[in-house]
Parts: sequence; C-alpha cells; structure tokens
Amino acid sequence: MSEAKKLTGKTALVTGASRGIGRATAERLARDGATVAVHFGRNDTAAKEVVAGIHAAGGQAFAVGGDLSSTDYTALLNEIDAGFANLGVPGGLDILVNNAGISSVTGVDAMTPEEFDLLFATNVRAPFFLVQGLLDRLREGGRVVNVSSVLTRVAIPDALAYTMTKGAIDSFTRVLAHQLGPRGITVNAVSPGFTLTDMNAALIDNPDGQREASANVALGRLGRPADVADVVAFLAGDDARWVTGQTIDASGGTAL
Ligand code: NAD
Repeated sequence: MSEAKKLTGKTALVTGASRGIGRATAERLARDGATVAVHFGRNDTAAKEVVAGIHAAGGQAFAVGGDLSSTDYTALLNEIDAGFANLGVPGGLDILVNNAGISSVTGVDAMTPEEFDLLFATNVRAPFFLVQGLLDRLREGGRVVNVSSVLTRVAIPDALAYTMTKGAIDSFTRVLAHQLGPRGITVNAVSPGFTLTDMNAALIDNPDGQREASANVALGRLGRPADVADVVAFLAGDDARWVTGQTIDASGGTAL
C-alpha cells in the first residue's frame, strides 16, 4: 500500500471542518484514503466546498451539520451514519477528531457566566458527549484526537477561561485513553500554537503582527493549518499505534 493511502478503508469524523485546522485535517485524512464526515457548525456552503475539493482530489467525503454547543447529538449521529451508508461504507467510526472550538480573550475581570458557559459547552462538553454518543461506533484500533492548545503551557491571563477548557481537554485525553485502551483505541491531543486561521483573523494579512506573535516561536513563524493537520494525521495513522494518552505540541517550539 502506498504511503499516501495509509487510511484506505477507514472512516473519520472531523468536527469544525469547514475551515481552519479542521478543514486542513479533513483534507489530509481524505488524501490518506479515509472517508471523511466533514462537520460544520453553521456554514454549510463552506463545508460543501471542502467536500467538493476532496472529491476533486479523488477522495470520499460528505458534510454533516450541527451546533455542538447544544446538548442533543442524536440528529447529528444519525446524519453521520446515513452519510457513511450512502457512500456504501460499513457503519462504525475509526477516527474522531474533536477539533471544533471557540476562543476567548476575556480575562477573569470581565468574563460573564454566559461566555464562560459557552466556552465550556463548546470546547469541553461537546467532545465529551460526542465521544459518549460514538462509544459504540468506535471500532477496535480506532483513534480519538482532541485539539488542545499551547496555552495550557504558556500563561496568557486574558485567555484564562479558554485555557481552562483546553486543560480539561488534556485531562479528558489522558483518562479516556486509559478507558479505551483495552479496546485498542488510542486517545491523544495536539496542542497548536498561534495558527493562521479565522481564530486569529487579525493576524492573517498582518506581517508586523505575525512577526510580533512569532517572536517566541523557535521555528520563527506562525503555524499554518496544515502544520497541525499533519500531526493529527500522524496520530490517526498506524505509525502512532503505540502512542496514547499524550498531548503533542504542534507549535513550532513556542516559548521553549
Ligand atoms: P476556526 O475558528 O477557524 O475554526 C473553528 C471551527 O469550530 C469552525 O469550523 C467553527 O464552525 C467550529 N465551531 C465553533 N463553535 C462551534 C459549535 N458550537 N458547533 C459546531 N462547530 C463549531 O479556528 P481554528 O484555529 O481552526 O480552531 C480549531 C481548533 O484549534 C479549536 O479547538 C481551537 O481552540 C484550536 N486552536 C487554535 C489555535 C489557533 O491559533 N488558531 C491555537 C490553539 C488551538
């Protein structure tokens, strides 16, 4: 089997895959041969574009929508099952990438309970209950990859609540790995540093801002979505079969 198709026959769900790191991850997993459920929150047009791009490159994918800050994932899970069935792919999931998330630069002084709850609902409760809903579908040898953040290691006071959500993701990763290990399922997290996505929209066409933000990055630039997606793909593949319960830094060496 060629290196480029190492995920042939696998199914994957990537949350928040209509743009940014999730999009790059869906595209990379599809390039590696996986059939990918491209999940989107609101922008079905963008998700359909991602799916069309994957098809054009010879891959298999479909779009599924759903607000992950809600509490009922029944419709989403049914849509995912139907999407794989429509493509003639056997039910069950090999790879779950919990990528969708929101950020916040509201420090403890100005944080409201509403914003705090939305952060935790989206970044923590959603991956937790998505895994719960998928427990029976995850196949032996499966992979769960959660997207954390370098901020769990680098303290930025204005990002306190956001950082707390990612700290929870690191704990989720370690403990879930322990639970799912006997089923041959690995659970890991990837911690991006500053990455050029809509989450950092102000930096995208801003060379001065990028220079400033990358001053503390050993590799001397900000991350691109594919820099992170490639690490997710490593964890999703067979080469990472003996790695579980870990949080892997993908920040170009931020604040070493
Ligand atoms: P992004 O804003 O481009 O993408 C976030 C995705 O999550 C979008 O597709 C969005 O629709 C989806 N999403 C958000 N809330 C949702 C909800 N309630 N329901 C369904 N989908 C929802 O940002 P990104 O940089 O690609 O972020 C991806 C992940 O990477 C996030 O978990 C983020 O916390 C993490 N991260 C990003 C950076 C960075 O610098 N960009 C750094 C560290 C970690």
